Amino acid sequence: MKSINPFTGKVICDYKEYSSSEVEKIILKVDQAFHSWKLKSFEQRAIFMKNLQARLLVKKEELAGIITAEMGKVKLEAFGEIEKCASVCGYYAENAESFLKNEPIKTEAAESYISYQPIGTVLAVMPWNFPFWQVFRFLAPALMAGNTGVLKHASNVSGCALAIEQLISEAGFPANVFRTLLIGSKEVKAVVENPLIKAVTLTGSTLAGRSVASTAGYALKKSVLELGGSDPYLIMEDADIETAASLCVTSRLLNAGQSCIGAKRFIIADTVYDQFKAEFVRLMSEAKFGDPLDPQTAIGPLARIDLRDELHQQVEKSREMGASILLGGFIPEENTPFYPPTVLENVVPGMPAYHEELFGPVAVLFRFKTEEEAIRIANDTVFGLGAGIFTSDVGKGKSLAEKGLEAGCVFVNDFVKSDPRLPFGGVKESGYGRELSMIGIREFVNIKTIVVR
Ligand code: NAP
Repeated sequence: MKSINPFTGKVICDYKEYSSSEVEKIILKVDQAFHSWKLKSFEQRAIFMKNLQARLLVKKEELAGIITAEMGKVKLEAFGEIEKCASVCGYYAENAESFLKNEPIKTEAAESYISYQPIGTVLAVMPWNFPFWQVFRFLAPALMAGNTGVLKHASNVSGCALAIEQLISEAGFPANVFRTLLIGSKEVKAVVENPLIKAVTLTGSTLAGRSVASTAGYALKKSVLELGGSDPYLIMEDADIETAASLCVTSRLLNAGQSCIGAKRFIIADTVYDQFKAEFVRLMSEAKFGDPLDPQTAIGPLARIDLRDELHQQVEKSREMGASILLGGFIPEENTPFYPPTVLENVVPGMPAYHEELFGPVAVLFRFKTEEEAIRIANDTVFGLGAGIFTSDVGKGKSLAEKGLEAGCVFVNDFVKSDPRLPFGGVKESGYGRELSMIGIREFVNIKTIVVR
C-alpha cells in the first residue's frame, strides 16, 4: 500500500498490508476494549475526547503536512480540516450526554422510556479526500456513544490512518478503543462479516457503498452510507450574480474539486445566464494550480494520476458528444495530476458530464426558462447529496429547498458545508443515514425501550 506524494511523484512510504490473522487479532482486542469502554460515564469519555481535541490543535502543522503530502490538499485547507476535526471532538464531548440521555415516554405503565446504548465495534471505511475530517466525524460521536471502532482508510492515505491511531493513543484513550487496519478493499468483506463487527459506515463512491452495504445487509448489520454527489445550484434571475458566481466558484474549487458536496452543476435563469457565465468563467480562470505548500496556490494536484485521467476522459467524451469547453479541459503536465479549472456548456443527457460525478475542478452550466425546468434538470440525477439556490426571494428559496430539490441538504444563498451541529447525508444513490448532530450519534446505538410495570 504505497503513499505517493501527488505533487512530487515520490513514494512517501510503502506500507505492508496486515494479514487476515493480524486483522482478526486487532478486532478481538477492540471488541474486548468495548466491554470496559461502554461502562465509562460520558464525563470520563469527554475527558479523552477533549484531550484529543487539544492534541489535534497542538499537532496541526504536522498533521496538515501529512494530508498535503499524501493527497495534495493545499496547506491552508489542510489546516482548516484539522481545526474542524478538533471542533467536532469538542462538540460531541460537550453534547453527547444530552443527545443520549434517557427519554421518558408517557404510557399506561409506571415508567417507560427510551435508553440509548452502544452496540459494540463499528467498522469505518473511509475515502482519501478529507482524510482526517471523514474519520473524525465518525469517530467523535461513535466513541462518545460508548462504541469502539476500526478504520479501513483509503489505500493512498495510510500515513493519515496511522497518525489518527497515534493521536488517539496520545490523547490517553484506553488501548484498542480505536484501531487502524491497513488493508485493501478486497479484505473489507471479511471484516464486515466478522461477528465482532456490529455495524459499518462507509464514505466513498456509490460502487464501494453498494458492495459494502450488500455484505452488511446479508449479515444483517446496520450500515450508513455517505456516497457521491453531483450537487446542483440554481441561479434565479433575482440572484445577486456576483456573489453567487463567487460562492459557486469557491465551492467548485474547494479541495481541487474533490469534494462530495462541491457545487458541480449550475442551473442558471435564461435572463442572467450570460452575466453569470462571464463572471463564473472569469473567476475560474483566475484560480492557479501549483505547489500545494505555496500559500499563493488556489488548487493543488488531484490525489492520483488515474483519477486525473478518469476526469479528463469524462470531459473529452462529453466534448466529442457535443459539449462546449469554455475553459480548461486539457492535461497540463503528464506526470503531475494537475487538472485546470474547466467549464462546460451545451451538456445534454447521454454525456458523462450530464450524468456522472465530476470529481475535480470541472463545472457544467445549464440554462433554464421556467422554475419547473430548473427543478427538473436539478433532480435529473441519481445523486441527492447537497444543493444550492441563489435568489433574493428567501421565501421562494426555502420553498424550493423544502419541496423541490431532491437532496439531503439545501443551502439558500450560500454553498453547502458540513457543520457538527447539523445532520449531514444524502438521498437516492448518495446514500442513507446521517452523520453529525444529535441524529448522527444515534445511528450506531441500540434505541432500547424500557418499560416498568
Ligand atoms: P472509493 O474508491 O469508493 O473509496 C472509498 C473507500 O472505500 C476506500 O477506503 C476504498 O479502499 C474502499 N473501497 C473501494 N471499493 C471498495 C469495495 N468494493 N469494497 C469495500 N471497500 C471499498 O472512493 P474514493 O475515490 O476514495 O472517494 C471519492 C468518492 O467518495 C466520491 O464519489 C465522493 O463523492 C465520495 N465522498 C462522499 C462523501 C459524503 O459524505 N457523501 C464524502 C467524501 C467523499 P481502497 O482505497 O483500498 O480502494
